[in-house]
Amino acid sequence: MQAQPTLFVSHGAPTFATEPGQAGPLLAAMGRRQPAPRAVLIVSPHWMTRGLAVTAAARPATIHDFGGFPAELYTLQYPAPGDPALAARVAALLGAAGHRVGLDETRGLDHGAWVPMRHMFPAHDIPVVQLSLPATLDPAQAWALGRDLAPLSAEGVLIVGSGSLTHNLYEFRQRDGADEPYVRAFADWARQAVRTHDRDALVGYLDAAPQARRAHPTAEHYLPLLIAAGAAAPDADVEVLDGGISHGVLSMDAYVFNSPAAH
Ligand code: ZN
Repeated sequence: MQAQPTLFVSHGAPTFATEPGQAGPLLAAMGRRQPAPRAVLIVSPHWMTRGLAVTAAARPATIHDFGGFPAELYTLQYPAPGDPALAARVAALLGAAGHRVGLDETRGLDHGAWVPMRHMFPAHDIPVVQLSLPATLDPAQAWALGRDLAPLSAEGVLIVGSGSLTHNLYEFRQRDGADEPYVRAFADWARQAVRTHDRDALVGYLDAAPQARRAHPTAEHYLPLLIAAGAAAPDADVEVLDGGISHGVLSMDAYVFNSPAAH
């Protein structure tokens, strides 16, 4: 079984599904280049629960969990299979680490999961299991959750944290261009912090990062980065996929954490 890297991806606005911009082709190239994972385990802030839950459907539905977007977006499907055996494995692994995990046999994949997967694995032939984001998760707990998931990488599972490197929707613009300078400043800081696997800075981002509260008025789109980084080996080689900035305020950067064992 080929060990897998871990991945953080910015899923942007739902329109990222049909407007790949700079980030989509980079995700597509990454999906082609890596040895195919056995399955994907993805966390998105669009499924928040009390405690932890994992999708256990054999055929998870495509959830169009957004309103007011072009009609075309609501017709898109991402019919990747689920993987109930992997869901049980995730529940057992996290249970042994002290978490309580529920199996959800009806939940499908939200747009934070299927939109980036559609770019990476357009043939939808790789099973996808989604893990919920606990509503009360704090940054240190997010890092620890990633660490608890880490054994899955050696089992051929691609662990993906799907969020948004910056996510201030109060400043969202319909058109690209005239990017807010703080977005680049935050993205530059994050690149440096992930490259040095600086847990203290990443977990303590509200104090350590420039304009952190403006970049993330709430934490839920940042926490998947901590899960992905926590799941990576401390000496992982970090590849930055420079996705640019969409809608003036959404950094679309992604990071591939290539652990030495995965080479
Ligand atoms: Zn989102």
